Amino acid sequence: MTESKGRQRIFSGIQPTGEPHLGNYLGAIRQWVQQQNAPAPHDALYSIVDYHALTIEMEPGSLDRFTLDLTASLLACGLDPERITLFRQSDVPEHTELGWIFSCVAAMGDLHRMTQFKDKADQNKDNVNVGLFAYPVLQSADILLYKANLVPVGDDQVQHLELARECARRFNRRFGETFPEPQPLLSTVPRLKGLDGSAKMSKSKGNTVSLSEAPEQIRAKLKVAVTDPARLRRNDPGHPEVCNVFTLHGCFTGPANPARVAAIEADCRSAALGCVDCKKELADRIVEQLGPIRDRQAAWRARPDDLRDLLEKGRRKAAEIARATMEEVRVRIGVRAPPNSR
Ligand code: SF4
Repeated sequence: MTESKGRQRIFSGIQPTGEPHLGNYLGAIRQWVQQQNAPAPHDALYSIVDYHALTIEMEPGSLDRFTLDLTASLLACGLDPERITLFRQSDVPEHTELGWIFSCVAAMGDLHRMTQFKDKADQNKDNVNVGLFAYPVLQSADILLYKANLVPVGDDQVQHLELARECARRFNRRFGETFPEPQPLLSTVPRLKGLDGSAKMSKSKGNTVSLSEAPEQIRAKLKVAVTDPARLRRNDPGHPEVCNVFTLHGCFTGPANPARVAAIEADCRSAALGCVDCKKELADRIVEQLGPIRDRQAAWRARPDDLRDLLEKGRRKAAEIARATMEEVRVRIGVRAPPNSR
């Protein structure tokens, strides 16, 4: 089953490694909500991929709490479990089962080429575990277990999706046509740098804003955000194309007021607008838009039993598809006889 009632199927996952931040929100969550609210939405499955989070060291017992917190955040951002399937990866054991099977299908050479592994291994020198190396295989299983046709990706994830496509091709060649080759749904959000000017936003570097941050914290972080490095004095003309603050204006000011973004661009270039005012204005937009999310997040976090119920409903929907795929896969690889011969 690759489609439901003629709809394309979309799959994506998010790790429960703590509070979601601007990068997670703009790069994934906000687009999931837009997709859900589109006039003809896809059949979407979104998974809180807790087994992926094990690749980094975490305090024992924290994953369940992080999963509930992330569920609350996703609901607060507008995901509606009546319209999409939201579930926890470890609640559906077929993910790891198919992950093992793909480990016996994927090529070591393909995994060695994954640039993200090299980056993550550099960042986690004390804990370069096998899971860190092999997690694109589990990610391939996450996607193909649901025979998803579409996977939302940023440009840094294209290589992993190509591995999923390669797993599908290799499996199909060896065991017969089973899996579709999922296509990328490329993110429309430009790559965001950290507020400190480093290549990526990340919680561990503290160079981003988390969704539950208080207005004064958001304003303080924006105040020191790195802008155009060539703009040393107030009267220097700016280059918005290299400024992360301008990129963020595109995300927070642009959707409701594209004319204002065009004016910021022009005023930056002519030096009519200074960075201090520009950053204040961005902080206002972020505070405005994250405020209601923060309130809903707090309300959901006070209802852990309801969060667990919602995850259980999602598990049931996901498990039905996963079970059917794995019954087919077990027969294909020959660990079970076909049903009509039993
Ligand atoms: Fe960036 Fe705004 Fe300063 Fe221009 S005015 S360099 S867009 S912060």
